[in-house]
Amino acid sequence: MNKPKINLKKRLQLAPHPAPERPVAERLRDFGAVRLLHSPEEARAEAARCLHCPTAPCQQACPLHNDIPRALGLLERGEFTEAALVYYETSHLPEIYSRVCPEQFCQAACTLGKRGKPIDTRAIEAFLTTTLRRTDGLPAAQAAAPTGKHVAIVGSGPAGLTVAEILTRKGHTATIYEQFPQPGGLMVYGIPKFKLELEIVTAKIARLKELGVRFRCNTRIGVDLTLDDLRAEHDAIFIGVGTPVHYRPGLPGEELTGVYEATEFLSRANLPTEILPLPWQAPLEIGSRIHVLGGGSTAMDCLRTALRLPQTTEAACYYRRSAEQMPSDEGSYRHALEEGAAFTWLASPLEFVGDEHDALTAIRYQRMQLGEPDQSGRRRPLPIPGETFTVPADAVILAFGYRPDPDFTAHLGVATERWGTIKVETRENGQTSVPGIFAAGDIVRGADLLAPAVADAAHVAEALDAYLRAS
Ligand SMILES: Cc1cc2nc3c(=O)[nH]c(=O)nc-3n(C[C@H](O)[C@H](O)[C@H](O)COP(=O)(O)OP(=O)(O)OC[C@H]3O[C@@H](n4cnc5c(N)ncnc54)[C@H](O)[C@@H]3O)c2cc1C
Repeated sequence: MNKPKINLKKRLQLAPHPAPERPVAERLRDFGAVRLLHSPEEARAEAARCLHCPTAPCQQACPLHNDIPRALGLLERGEFTEAALVYYETSHLPEIYSRVCPEQFCQAACTLGKRGKPIDTRAIEAFLTTTLRRTDGLPAAQAAAPTGKHVAIVGSGPAGLTVAEILTRKGHTATIYEQFPQPGGLMVYGIPKFKLELEIVTAKIARLKELGVRFRCNTRIGVDLTLDDLRAEHDAIFIGVGTPVHYRPGLPGEELTGVYEATEFLSRANLPTEILPLPWQAPLEIGSRIHVLGGGSTAMDCLRTALRLPQTTEAACYYRRSAEQMPSDEGSYRHALEEGAAFTWLASPLEFVGDEHDALTAIRYQRMQLGEPDQSGRRRPLPIPGETFTVPADAVILAFGYRPDPDFTAHLGVATERWGTIKVETRENGQTSVPGIFAAGDIVRGADLLAPAVADAAHVAEALDAYLRAS
């Protein structure tokens, strides 16, 4: 495609056309998407602001190196299908990352950000790829002639789905084993529906089934089936199990009713009962005063979910550092503030207080102050001696982060790193210490983000293909 002729001066004066968001009062009434899609005209107007920088910083910053300038150029000319297909050249879940990638990648790299508002690149990708799917424009799913090789994929998150798609297209038989009732990993049992609609993940799974990917849900490897069972039926194994274990603070009262881990709370509040695991199917009776502990994007998701529950009167975040040090992405924090979440900085939980029925009634907190920077470069939070306070609460959501499941990695017998993640030769080949077992995604990186998990998984799928062909 010829690059559009750029009159820099003129382009710099064009008004931004960001994707619209639903008004706060309206969006708090349901779990529907907060960000709406551009209209075709608005999307073209936004694409027409692109300066087509020779070094394409947006493309470089994208973990998947999507050719964003080319897609924008095609969109500007009204070539919607061609523009949407550009994203599929380098990525497998563009409808999904376009909704959940934080600002830090393509959008933060946009040159226009230094002179005003960056191009709303993620929203444009969402508009193009969703329109393509809804108008049946996706190319037919086609697999190569069967190679006779079988691969087991443990975990159906973005990493597992990506490996399954690539290997199936190359003619291998891929079977995904998933412990939950529905495939999708954290895209279903984690990320709230107001950020990522369930329909988008379900549509992707349906296409993978059409392609020939096999799914065995409600099957936990290490419990329902063993590694030896998988080895008996498959030529290679890919591990994409993420980091499913919550960090717990180990405080008195953690066993009280009303103390929830983030994943359980998010799943029970966001998802239809029929796709919840049995133990989570009871209605969520959570009270009206909800505290969320932690300062990451998961904590913001919990606050925003709590604010959508009809009985909530208070959704309050307590974080041991200050606002500037919160690891949450900016967008999630802004949305949480807009929607009415309350924040108490420099407060760390000491104890969960219960009544005679073992139900949570209050939380006792320690006031903190900031000391010298720690290993993360952030100032270390230190307790202020004698300064504690107690706040009534009906429920508390623990959102301190996630770690790998040590029982599962021990079952596999693979070497692990210091924090329990699986050790691989390189992130590109995903080769673990056990021949024939490959890994990628959060189980290798530690709890991270969707696009890097998929980028690594795509490389590892190529290494797996080479392994299968050589074996
Ligand atoms: C609440 C929340 C919100 C997030 N929001 C964002 C966001 O907005 N943007 C973003 O980029 N990233 C976000 N992330 C991070 C992102 O979801 C992850 O980085 C990504 O999903 C990792 O992909 P994965 O395939 O490695 O693992 P996962 O998505 O965790 O999938 C692993 C799958 O393996 C299954 N599994 C585990 N053990 C077994 C076993 N023994 N047998 C069978 N199956 C097993 C699990 O049930 C799960 O389905 C969020 C994470 C959380 C928790």
